This record gives sequence, structure tokens and C-alpha cells, in this order.
Amino acid sequence: MANKYCITLLPGDGIGPEIMTVAVDVLKVVGKKFDIQFEFQEALLGGAAIDATGEPLPAATLDICRNSDAVLLAAIGGYKWDSLPSHLRPEAGLLRLRAGLGLFANLRPAKILPQLIDASTLKREVVEGVDIMVVRELTGGIYFGKPKGIFETETGEKRGVNTMAYTESEIERIGRVAFETARKRQGKLCSVDKANVLEVSQLWRDRMTKLAAEYPDVELTHMYVDNAAMQLLRAPKQFDTIVTGNLFGDILSDAAAMLTGSIGMLPSASLGASRPGVFEPVHGSAPDIAGLDRANPLAQILSAAMMLRYGLNQSAAADFLEKGVSQVLQSGARTGDIMSPGMQLLGCRAMGEALIKILEE
Ligand code: NAD
Repeated sequence: MANKYCITLLPGDGIGPEIMTVAVDVLKVVGKKFDIQFEFQEALLGGAAIDATGEPLPAATLDICRNSDAVLLAAIGGYKWDSLPSHLRPEAGLLRLRAGLGLFANLRPAKILPQLIDASTLKREVVEGVDIMVVRELTGGIYFGKPKGIFETETGEKRGVNTMAYTESEIERIGRVAFETARKRQGKLCSVDKANVLEVSQLWRDRMTKLAAEYPDVELTHMYVDNAAMQLLRAPKQFDTIVTGNLFGDILSDAAAMLTGSIGMLPSASLGASRPGVFEPVHGSAPDIAGLDRANPLAQILSAAMMLRYGLNQSAAADFLEKGVSQVLQSGARTGDIMSPGMQLLGCRAMGEALIKILEE
């Protein structure tokens, strides 16, 4: 009997609807091959939701997402909504969606595709073969710790305060996601902290070490964040899976992602304790090219592959889709953002069609 999944689609704004259409067509083909039935339902988020309802995350959207097996999101935002107060802007909808679904783990892969090596700013021999997954804690740490604010001291001077705090249970739940992720990859997990200076990091390191006993098949190492930043640029191939807190993860995941050189290729996953996760490209809504059929749909398609792997446990289908993306690039197909001499320039729709042709072969 076919596996059946209910998928909520949030096309959002800008290039969102264009890349989402392509990703859905591709998923239908993968579903057919692997006997997976997708039931897609579309909902409003971001600017599109503001225009229709006045709210960046309508209650109906959160309900639909909660009741689905996974959420595939494209991108939100655009010039049109930039002057709204911050709680009514498209980005507020995204933050509320993450909070509403309890998404505490953010997974961002940085994988160099051999066909795009020259898009990286680093030397070929440094980046060739890089395949890293950064697991970032998303709902704790210094971005949420209290007290926070700008306070006045007794002398009348202002003092800005944020608090970096993690409880054992917060560390443990992100740790489990990271160990499970490493298990699905090469079985190597590097926990990044600043335990030489920060007490919060000492607790982090201690909990990660204790957790390792439950995952004997995963090799755990620890690294200070300053060294990790350096090692990512010096010898990125030493990393398989990295787990770290919110602030360090914010910075390191961008650095790791940029090893690959092209924003139109980068997917991400945000996961909670149970379904549904949210799967979305790293890039924004690219209003400068919206409606022109020039967007690269591959980050959206690779986000759909992450949905198959981490959201629906359909690893074989995810492998198949990722291999297809590699093959379509191998064939010379390129969108404008990854174009290089001698390659074939395609629009968003044509890139999707070229991929589907390969998947159907
Ligand atoms: P952006 O990622 O949208 O665009 C940056 C540059 O990369 C642009 O030149 C754009 O054309 C290009 N680009 C991005 N994705 C591409 C793709 N798939 N194919 C080809 N080219 C692509 O970032 P920005 O310009 O800083 O932000 C635009 C809007 O997106 C803003 O409103 C911002 O708030 C929003 N945004 C949303 C998200 C999200 O939905 N998660 C993330 C970042 C930015």
C-alpha cells in the first residue's frame, strides 16, 4: 500500500510561487516512482497573507500546518511590506510559524556539488568533497535568554544586556536530533561551544558527552567556536555533522553554506519534537527577479528532498531526488545565478522540466 502524506505548501511571496510550482511537479514524479502519495494543501504566509487577511500568519495557516505531515515553505517578504510595523511584517509570520510548531532544531547542509565547485570562493582542493550538516539550536540561547534589554545604570549610562542560557533538557533535545542526524550521515558529530570561557558551554559539553553513551555508533568530538570558524575555512572536509547553540550556529551555518558559493542551491530543515517540520530554501523571496522565470528552483527542490529524508523518513526517495539534481547539473543545465561559460542557460520552469526528464528516465 502506498505511503500517504499530507503536505502543506506555503509559496509565500516573490519567486516563492514559481519555485514552489516546480518543486511540487518534481515531488509528484518522485512520489510515482516510490509509491508515495502526496496530498498537497496550500496556505497563506507572509506578504500574500497580509494582503488577503491583514495577518502575516493567519490562524488558519498555523492550524493547517499543525495537522499536516510536513510543511514545504518557499520564501516570504518584499519591498511592498517593508514599511509595516515589525509585528505585521512578513518575517513576523515566519518567526511565529517556527514558534507555533515548536521548531527547535535547524538543519543546514553545505554540500559542494562537483559541477559547481568553481562557484566557491575557496580553492578547489579545499572544498572538493565538502559535505557538512550544521545542526543549530533555534529557540534558546542568547537570542531568547532573560534578562534582555537596554537598561539605565545608576549613573544614567545605558547598558545593553542579553543572556546566554541553556537548560539540560534544551541541550539534550538538540543533541538527540544531532546524534540521529549524524547517524544518517557519516557517523561523526562535532559539538561546537566556548567551554573554555562560558559556563553555559561547560554544561553544553557535559550533556553532549553524557548523551554520546546512548549513540555508540556516532563518534563525538568537541571544538571551540573560534577554532571551528577557522577550521571551516582551512579544512572543511574534516567535518561531517556539527551541533551548536543558536548564536554560534547562526554564524557558522552561514559560513559553512557559503563554502558552496551559490545561494540558489541551499536548502534547510527546521524540526521540532514531532512532526511536522518546515523545509525551506535558505534564500529569500528575490523580489528583483520575481515573475521573470529566472529563479533557480534547486534550493526549493533540495528542501523537498530534506523533507523526504528528515520529515517523512523516505531516504531512498531523497537520495533519488538529490542524485537527479546532480545529474541535471552534470547535463550542463544552469539558471542565471549559477551560470558559467559553455553551460546551457535555463529559466525556472525549464530547469524543472529538465530535472523531471532525468527523473523519469
Ligand atoms: P534574497 O535571498 O531574496 O536575494 C538575494 C540575492 O540572491 C538577489 O539578487 C536574488 O535575486 C538572488 N537570489 C535569491 N534566491 C535566488 C534563486 N532561487 N535563484 C536566483 N537568484 C536568487 O535576499 P534579500 O534580497 O536580502 O531579501 C529579499 C526579501 O526576502 C526580503 O523581503 C527579505 O526579508 C526576505 N527574506 C526572506 C527569507 C525567508 O523567507 N526565509 C530569507 C531571507 C530574506
